[in-house]
Formats: sequence, C-alpha cells, structure tokens
Amino acid sequence: MTSSVIEVDNVSKAFGGVIANKEISLTVPNGKITGLIGPNGSGKTTLFNSIVGYHPIDDGSIKFEGNEISTMRVQEIARLGLIRTFQQTRIFSKMNCIDNLLISIPHRTATFKDMFRSYDPETLDKAEALLEFVGLYQKRFLIAGELSFGQQRLLEFATALMNEPKVLLLDEPTAGINPTLINGLIDRLKRANTDFGITLFVIEHNMRVIMNLAENIYCLAHGELLAHGTPDEIQNDQRVIDAYLGAH
Ligand code: ADP
Ligand code: MG
Repeated sequence: MTSSVIEVDNVSKAFGGVIANKEISLTVPNGKITGLIGPNGSGKTTLFNSIVGYHPIDDGSIKFEGNEISTMRVQEIARLGLIRTFQQTRIFSKMNCIDNLLISIPHRTATFKDMFRSYDPETLDKAEALLEFVGLYQKRFLIAGELSFGQQRLLEFATALMNEPKVLLLDEPTAGINPTLINGLIDRLKRANTDFGITLFVIEHNMRVIMNLAENIYCLAHGELLAHGTPDEIQNDQRVIDAYLGAH
C-alpha cells in the first residue's frame, strides 16, 4: 500500500470575506504524480500556499510525512524537503543560468559577495547536471532574462530540483509555454518522478497535460473539493465537466 506524504485535513482559508478554501481534505501519495485542477479562482494556489507555509490556515491540519506542518514557516518546511514553484516564474533575470541554480541552495557564507566563492565541485557538478537534464547546459552562462519564457520555466524547475526536494508542488508549470516545449517539460516532470523519486503535486489548467501526467486528480470548485479520481474518472465526471463549462 502506498503511504501518503502530504495529508490535508479539513483545511479552510479565507481572505476577508472571500472563502478561498473550505474544509478541504486530500492526500498526496508518496512517489506518485497527483494533479490538482479547477476553474480560475477555485482555490488551487491558495491550497499550495497553505501547504508550504506561505500563510497561516484558519482551520484544519496539514501533515508532511506524518508531522504537523501547518504552524511552520516556509523555510522550515522547505528544509524538510517540501518545495513549490510559482504560477508566475521567479528567477533572477539579470543573473546567468548556472548562478540561478547556485544561489538557490542554502549557503553558509555571510555576505552576498562571498556566496559565489563558496561552491564546492560537487555543487557545481550538480548544477551542470541539472541544466543538462532540462536541456539548458549550452545556455548555462546566458543571462536568464534572455531565455524564452518556456526555457525560463525549465530553469525554474532545475532550480527547484537543486534543493533535492522529496515533494515538489508545481503551480501551472506549462502556463504560457508553446506546445513543443510543453511535451519536453512533461517528459522532464515524469523523469523527475521516476528517475529521482520525487513526489509531484501539480496544479494544471491544461486538461490534456494533467490527464497525461497524473495518476490521480483532485478537482476544486468555489474553494471546495468537488471530485477525486483517476484521469478517466475525472474526465467523465459530470460535476467536473459542469464546473469547467460554468467557468467559461
Ligand atoms: P486559483 O489558483 O484556483 O485560480 P486562488 O487560490 O488564486 O485560485 O484564489 C482563490 C480565491 O481567493 C480567489 O477569489 C482569489 O481572488 C482569492 N485570493 C487568493 N489569494 C488572495 C489574497 N492574498 N488576498 C485576497 N484574496 C485572495
Ligand atoms: Mg492559481
């Protein structure tokens, strides 16, 4: 039996009068790829923010590997191996690709200037290997801001892998990427799961992508959990179809 690496139990979160998440319970199985879908504004990003400690929750419990994390801060949670990427790409656009990877890992040095002198050969090797993995090795000395949008997302993905997460939460990783790069990204996400053993929890707006990627999928609507099932079950669930149709 597969164990759950993340357990969300009855979690609620409101912003003023807006109930972004209402009594959500779900689990993310260890070693698998799980999807999170739902129309815009249904509370997907809010749930990710709650899981990684970006903001406190109003009610409920969130466990990572059996331990309560809902009162912990982002950095503490990241150190446990639970890391997320953002709906809007966050990279240092004036820095080159390899430096983006190098500065992403926790460092021991005191000043910003010292940071670049402190990397051991293994860390450099790891950064190069990850750039190779995402197909950006040839561009390692290129300023990140000069990469295409899709390549910036691949760089961000490599940056997240640099921290050796146990679980990676990806918020709409394919948003704004052209179809050719999307296939490459899907392939890398699957390989991060199979080859590196990283559990993935992926928010995705593109139905084709999530059906191809995830073994099990949760669907939110209006801040509540609407459905849970295999891609086939979700695709044929009338409540899910209605939620998406109703959103357009
Ligand atoms: P999704 O990612 O599914 O599109 P979000 O989680 O971003 O949805 O948003 C869910 C609801 O919560 C929306 O109505 C949104 O406007 C609101 N919301 C999200 N974050 C904030 C915030 N920081 N302050 C106020 N309202 C927010
Ligand atoms: Mg969102």
